Amino acid sequence: MSVDVDKSLFELIKDPNHEQIIFCNDNSIGLKAIIAIHNTNLGPAIGGTRMWNYSTDEEALKDVLNLSKAMSYKSSLAGLNAGGGKAVLIGHPSIKDRNYLKRFAQFIKDLNGKYWTAQDVNMTTEDIVYIKEICPFVVGLPKENGGLGDSSTPTAYGVYMGMKSATKHLTGSESLEGKKVLVQGVGNVGLKVVDYLVDEGTEIYVSDINNNNLDIAKSRNVNVLDSDDIYNISYDIISPCALGGTINKESLEKINCKIIAGAANNQLGDDNYVPNKLSEKEILYVPDFLVNAGGIISVYHEQIKDLDSEKVMKMTEDIYDKVIEVLKYSNKNKISTNAAAISLAKNRIAQNYKK
Ligand code: NAD
Repeated sequence: MSVDVDKSLFELIKDPNHEQIIFCNDNSIGLKAIIAIHNTNLGPAIGGTRMWNYSTDEEALKDVLNLSKAMSYKSSLAGLNAGGGKAVLIGHPSIKDRNYLKRFAQFIKDLNGKYWTAQDVNMTTEDIVYIKEICPFVVGLPKENGGLGDSSTPTAYGVYMGMKSATKHLTGSESLEGKKVLVQGVGNVGLKVVDYLVDEGTEIYVSDINNNNLDIAKSRNVNVLDSDDIYNISYDIISPCALGGTINKESLEKINCKIIAGAANNQLGDDNYVPNKLSEKEILYVPDFLVNAGGIISVYHEQIKDLDSEKVMKMTEDIYDKVIEVLKYSNKNKISTNAAAISLAKNRIAQNYKK
């Protein structure tokens, strides 16, 4: 962080226009957390808590600012009355004992419902259930704890809807039969995406660094690729379902596909070079925060106490039409699909500006 702390902090949050950043500290237990509330025009900010051993506080701040902003856009585009927020816990997950979680829960409770948390990287279901015992503003709970259960089910359905919609846009038919699709990462979401594709008769390719997950995928009659070989094939669709940042300057030199549509958050390595290169290569990028909204649709229904899984899946199905809307807006305004999705999300947030 630069010496001129006041100036640099406010410069950092000015452009994405964050409402509120809360720095939480408790020396006695080594707790350092940042809660970022990007926007609450549409409703309370919802977004998970991530624990990570960031190398600098600045890295943690940037991460939470990016993630919370993306949550605002995701909820807005999905048509939810929810805002965007996120929390990061700075440190190795091994320091996260009951005292630590209790203190963190109290910090969230202090916000009195302006921010609702959920599970994210390095937070277990048990952690979230325990936080809920201290603080009511928690979603993404198992069914036995009053929640809607595993959100990867609607997330995978939304990704599948996105693939079909984009395919219809390009070819006139939404069928994925015989199409070549790479699912990169066959964890909770990726494996369920594979199952939808199996039912369609798709030619499926998968990669993962976790052999256990690959073994499970193998039982689905898929082609397993070594991670180093994935870009040796040309695909109809690549579906990033592992980590963010996989569509970057280096990978774009090798990627050969017509559509990218996957669950991973923050897939694009940057906001300028990568979207331009995608357009140049005539690759249709379906924004991640548009197609992976099934999870937020699910936890939002928990937040409003409407525990109806069928309703969640129905609303997730609407991602099909939302993709068409974004692609049309992108064509009409001659902007990238990513810029189009952000613009539509921002418009809805602005229309609900709290006077
Ligand atoms: P997961 O941890 O269950 O699965 C991720 C899989 O990716 C794992 O099998 C892991 O081994 C694999 N992987 C990691 N690095 C890899 C690499 N370099 N190459 C290939 N495979 C690799 O996570 P998930 O719940 O399936 O989520 C997948 C992605 O979707 C994540 O980026 C997550 O943030 C995002 N997402 C998930 C949800 C949800 O509801 N679960 C919602 C929105 C977004």
